[in-house]
Amino acid sequence: MTAQLIDGNALSRQLRSEVATRAAALKARGVTPGLAVVLVGDNPASQVYVRNKVKACEEAGLHSVLEKYDATLTEAELLARVEALNNDPSIHGILVQLPLPAHIDDHKVIEAISPLKDVDGFHVASAGALMVGEVGFKACTPYGCMKMLESIGMKDLRGKHAVVIGRSNIVGKPMAMMLLQANATVTVCHSGTADLGAMTRQADVVVAAVGKRNVLTADMVKPGAVVIDVGMNRNDEGKLCGDVDFAGVKEVAGYITPVPGGVGPMTITMLLVSTVEAAERTAA
Ligand code: NAP
Repeated sequence: MTAQLIDGNALSRQLRSEVATRAAALKARGVTPGLAVVLVGDNPASQVYVRNKVKACEEAGLHSVLEKYDATLTEAELLARVEALNNDPSIHGILVQLPLPAHIDDHKVIEAISPLKDVDGFHVASAGALMVGEVGFKACTPYGCMKMLESIGMKDLRGKHAVVIGRSNIVGKPMAMMLLQANATVTVCHSGTADLGAMTRQADVVVAAVGKRNVLTADMVKPGAVVIDVGMNRNDEGKLCGDVDFAGVKEVAGYITPVPGGVGPMTITMLLVSTVEAAERTAA
């Protein structure tokens, strides 16, 4: 069997065009959805990420502001900037790019963002809203994975067993919660899981969010399962690859997401979706 690809680029194009339509409708009512992206320091990967986020906003007709600060910015100064953005009516979403320099407490800064503007979904209030099934903002990467499942007709996962590999606060845990809310039976695995393959072989859906190559190999996958690869690693040739042994697993799975071109573009797309959503909520 050769798995069908879930194309994150194609799905992103479709969702971003829906964002552009919603942004245009808001603009017609005098509201331009606005995202503020705050970058502190000169981490090269972060610089690429924020550039891509700002560019994606512009392409979808959203207003975006990129605030760049030297690594010497103090925590108090950053907190003051976040507060100013919380009070800025032209800004509907605020994203502080992580990691922050070591002298700044990430958690304190994220908690300073108004939950009404927390489009990254990392605030404790957003995580709590997800947990109890209330309206909030969802962490973008798992939200994108859910949209990928929806795109193949798997919006409701009643009767399905989903296995998430990884339990970080930004991917694994919110992913498990979203799958649970979609009615899946969910197992969360991590570095302390005794026999990962015994878990994944039972799964109808496997989401790998580990950050290690070949964590999931063909012998660990049930024939026909859906495999979502969140991982971002480099192979021996220096090329981007995921956590899944793509060549082997695609011969067993029913659907698979590629890396690159899978979950990656969906993450930025869901940031745009949440920003337009934030603007719609304030305009309602
Ligand atoms: P993380 O915080 O390092 O978490 C990794 C998780 O994997 C941990 O829960 C860890 O278990 C678990 N783990 C480690 N080795 C394992 C093993 N051998 N078997 C089973 N579980 C194992 O990473 P993260 O931030 O969640 O990111 C995970 C990956 O996704 C990274 O490659 C990252 O670059 C990528 N990512 C991609 C996007 C995107 O947009 N595509 C977005 C975010 C992250 P413990 O908890 O027990 O340590």
